[in-house]
Amino acid sequence: GHRLQHKTTLITGAGSGIGKCSAIAFAMQGATVIVNDLDEGKGEVTVEEIRAAGGSASLIVADVTDPSSVETMVEQAIERHGQIDVLFNNAGISGVGALHEVEPDAWDRVMRVNIRGVYLPSKYVLPSMMQRRSGVIINMSSCVAEIGLAKRASYSATKGAVLALTKSMQVDYASYGIRVNALLPGTILTPFVENYLKQSYDDPEAAIESLKKRQLSGEMGRPEDVAHAAVFLASEESKFMMGSPLYIDGGAVFG
Ligand code: NAD
Repeated sequence: GHRLQHKTTLITGAGSGIGKCSAIAFAMQGATVIVNDLDEGKGEVTVEEIRAAGGSASLIVADVTDPSSVETMVEQAIERHGQIDVLFNNAGISGVGALHEVEPDAWDRVMRVNIRGVYLPSKYVLPSMMQRRSGVIINMSSCVAEIGLAKRASYSATKGAVLALTKSMQVDYASYGIRVNALLPGTILTPFVENYLKQSYDDPEAAIESLKKRQLSGEMGRPEDVAHAAVFLASEESKFMMGSPLYIDGGAVFG
């Protein structure tokens, strides 16, 4: 495919799950992918898989919550490729528990990665996009931003914040030719969800079955389902979408 031909794309948290799958999908559509992750080993595997499939990718290890690391990452990416056409703020961590069960440190950790980790890469990428009067930003929210999900207080708060931030960013940067949209996946079977299930349930297999029933599709989503939506938001095909939430949730009905 050529839907993202010559588009330089920075994807955070691209060493695993949805980010990794998206990095591969973007590269297969002709994008030059900058794979970011905190975990060097995982990031390297993504880069190797893309190169083995004939795509173009390189790795920048950085913690999306650390301003100087993020600033250096963006400088390096622009040095290597001249510009960043697409920023996909994907990195995120899980947070479990009803509000009274969440310890302050755990609360802060989820806020830090899931909100600050969207704010910082955007802050350092935006000036170059504003100068070029073009760019696309995709923020990873979740359907829990809009649907109550049991025992995910801190996580839901962050994903609601990411959706509100997406709309605010779109208003501020529309006049610079920059589009900002959000992805709202339902339950997608990735290491992130597998770990959460193992931590939270005695019988993770039974938990998977009950989660499947909470999506109208009767199935869990696959990382590919979200990667396809991300390719669409990154491409010109979605040029009339601005500040929009895009659901990829199999008809989630959590309640
Ligand atoms: P994952 O755990 O499989 O992958 C996340 C990656 O982000 C990991 O490789 C991790 O090393 C990296 N990362 C974590 N903290 C980082 C940091 N500070 N700096 C840089 N990289 C960091 O998770 P996933 O399921 O692929 O989720 C990706 C995103 O999608 C997250 O934002 C998550 O909240 C969101 N999401 C996931 C689901 C789902 O069901 N899996 C549903 C809705 C939204």
